[in-house]
Amino acid sequence: MYSCIKHFSLCMLVILCFISCNNNTNYFNAIAKNDIPLKKPQKGDWLFSHKERMLTLGDYQKTYPLTPDGTRHTIYLKPIGDFSGLEWKQIELTRQYLENFFQIKTRIQQSSNNKIIPLGARRINQHHEQLLATYLRDTIIAVQKPKDAIVMMGIIEMDLYPSEKWNFVFGLASYDKGLAVGSIYRFHQRPLTPKQFNLSLQRLLKTSSHEIGHMFGLTHCIEANCLMNGTNSLAETDRSIARLCSGCQQKLNSTLKYDNKKRLQDLSVFFSKNKIENELALINADIVISE
Ligand SMILES: [Zn+2]
Ligand SMILES: [Zn+2]
Repeated sequence: MYSCIKHFSLCMLVILCFISCNNNTNYFNAIAKNDIPLKKPQKGDWLFSHKERMLTLGDYQKTYPLTPDGTRHTIYLKPIGDFSGLEWKQIELTRQYLENFFQIKTRIQQSSNNKIIPLGARRINQHHEQLLATYLRDTIIAVQKPKDAIVMMGIIEMDLYPSEKWNFVFGLASYDKGLAVGSIYRFHQRPLTPKQFNLSLQRLLKTSSHEIGHMFGLTHCIEANCLMNGTNSLAETDRSIARLCSGCQQKLNSTLKYDNKKRLQDLSVFFSKNKIENELALINADIVISE
C-alpha cells in the first residue's frame, strides 16, 4: 500500500512537471512571435566591431549560472557617491524594477561616500575624474556583499573606466562572483531635472538589468533586439529595448524559475505607473500573445 502511494505521488509529480514544462514551452513559443529582428550593425555599433557567439539553452545550463537558494536569495544595490533627491528616486524605482524583472527580493544597501576610493583607483580623463570599475567591483562591493545576497550591484555617481586602454564603461559585471558596478554619470546633465528624468531612468533600468542578467549567466544576445545586446554608446543603449527576447527569457527562467505571466503583469504595472510607453507596449504585446 505504502509503495503504491509513493508510486502514485511520483506519477503525480511527473505529470505536474510535464504540464508545467509544457506550459513554459507554449509561453516561449508564443512570445517568440514578438521578437524583433536585429538590424544589420552600422559602424560604431557594438556588433560592428565585436564578434560574439550565442549560447544555446543547453550550453547556458552547462555554465551553472548563479541560482538563488535558501541562503542567498536577495539582490542588493549599493549606492556610492552624492545623489540628489531625484537621483535617489531613480535608485528606488530601479530597485522596484529589478524586483519585477528578476522576480527576486531587491534591497538598497546603505550608501557610501566616494571618498572611500583611493587615489590609485582614480584618473583624470577628458577633464573629469573617473573611478576604476574593477577596483570598485572587486574590493568595495565584494567586501560589503551581505551573506543573503545572490548578487550585488554598486550604483556609482561618478564616471567609470574598466582599464587604462578604455575611455569609459557604463557598467561591469562578474559572471561567477555576483558582483557588478554601474555608473549614472553619462545618463543625464547635472543637476538632474524632471525633464531629463524619464530618459535617464530608462538608461539606468536597462544598464542595471543588463549587468544583473550577466550575473545570472546571460551572455550578449545576437538573436534579436534584446536587453542583452551589447552596446557601444548611449545612442545604442537608447535604441535598445528593455525586453528580453524569447531565447534569453527561456534561459533566465530555467535558472530563476519564476512565473512568466506574473512577471509580465508586474512589469506592465511598473511601466504604466512610470509612463515608460515603448516598453509598456512591448510587455503588453507579450501579455496578449501568451494568453
Ligand atoms: Zn554586457
Ligand atoms: Zn536575447
